[in-house]
Amino acid sequence: MPSKLLDALLLAMPLSPTLESWRQHLLSHLNYPVQGAQSLFIGDPVLVIVSFQPDRAEVLLPAMEWRHHDIKTPKPRCQGIVLERGGSLEQLLTLVDDTIALRLKSFRECGGCGKRCAPEVLGSLQGEPVCRDCIKGRRVLF
Ligand SMILES: [Zn+2]
Repeated sequence: MPSKLLDALLLAMPLSPTLESWRQHLLSHLNYPVQGAQSLFIGDPVLVIVSFQPDRAEVLLPAMEWRHHDIKTPKPRCQGIVLERGGSLEQLLTLVDDTIALRLKSFRECGGCGKRCAPEVLGSLQGEPVCRDCIKGRRVLF
């Protein structure tokens, strides 16, 4: 992930026409909500992150790292890099699709309402995965 300083520098430095066209494609051709600019956060919950740098696009899988039994911090995992030189939009899209598929596989069904949820919003009740809403609303039997 780019540092804060790098992100700030990048904002003042427009992407090359090729990378900008890839970025625009992702912004307009995906069936998911997209947030962000230099780094695109695709999906809600986020399914894949595409981070644009001056000469490349990096595709990241959103993931959480447990620091403590109840403290998690975001720690995206790099799934691949497409260099502007020699790379293609098709490569980038394939990487994005693969990462979304991988991310969706990590989703689990809530034992309370049956909704498929991102692992980071699931808690556990008696060993069963239960989503945040169900825990909050206590729509589960204890
Ligand atoms: Zn639920």
